[in-house]
Amino acid sequence: MNDTNSAASATVLGLGEMGRALARAFLADGRTTTVWNRTAAKADELVARGAVRAATVGEAVAASPVVVVCVLDYPTVHELLDPLAETLSGRVVVNLTTGTPAQARETAEWAARHGITYLDGGIMATPDMIAQPGSLLLYSGSRTAFDEHRALLDLLGESRFHGEDAGLASLHDLALLSAMYSMFAGFLHATALVGTEGVQATEFAPTVVGWLTALAPILPEFAKVIDSGDYASEVQNVNFTKSAIDSIVRVSRDQGIAVDVPGVVQKLLDQQVAEGHGESGSTRIYEGIRHPA
Ligand code: NAP
Repeated sequence: MNDTNSAASATVLGLGEMGRALARAFLADGRTTTVWNRTAAKADELVARGAVRAATVGEAVAASPVVVVCVLDYPTVHELLDPLAETLSGRVVVNLTTGTPAQARETAEWAARHGITYLDGGIMATPDMIAQPGSLLLYSGSRTAFDEHRALLDLLGESRFHGEDAGLASLHDLALLSAMYSMFAGFLHATALVGTEGVQATEFAPTVVGWLTALAPILPEFAKVIDSGDYASEVQNVNFTKSAIDSIVRVSRDQGIAVDVPGVVQKLLDQQVAEGHGESGSTRIYEGIRHPA
């Protein structure tokens, strides 16, 4: 079952948008790929590319040493896999379904009880990015499975291992999604603000992209400050940033739009001021998030 030097076959359970993209990547490498989906017709395109259609989940699981699962959620994962624990024993399950660290750990414990090697994963890509530059997949759980099947996993994108605690891939996945959604919310608020004066979103978006791209390299500098715990040396202190955020909240109100998005940052800055940290670097709001009152 070692994939390092051989082209191991794989099974893909779940052929939604993402599962089909995963199976396509395996097929493009010439891997024997067995597929199963609740709605069987979604396998047609893959069968046309050479995939083997399994009639049942059991048949699909029995076909390959590596079973990749990518379905809606963890209850569905258990619904599909639990009755097949015996068949799965001795095989590798790579679960790329999005869930929480607790769900990943619980599934890893279930797998261990049944002699199943378990690797949990988080996909930091959209289906059309799979197997393309920029596709990143995070893994945690069995280091042995990650090492042995690295060649297979690398077909999907860059593979990054986060440790033997099965919950860590999910933790990183959700953390990155948190950064993404916060950025999206910031963009939507900014667009709503200029929209009050008739500026089209399409007109404004390129400016936002340039602005955020120029600012992104500052994040590792923030990281150094956070790791050092020394917020004294930052150029922009809490009082300075608070003045900017207060203006953003004020103009948002004046223009008649919701203030929820900048309001969150304002609340965190207010907390730092109330605790006597107005002269500390603005990154200190990390402490308010990390250690809520
Ligand atoms: P999707 O297109 O909605 O597909 C969902 C899949 O789950 C389908 O194969 C569906 O089967 C199956 N499913 C749902 N309930 C089921 C049940 N009770 N029994 C058996 N199968 C069931 O979603 P997707 O985009 O492929 O996403 C799959 C996973 O990848 C999710 O956990 C998602 O968070 C994760 N993911 C997706 C993206 C993305 O951009 N799409 C990115 C990163 C991670 P049917 O076809 O029969 O309905």
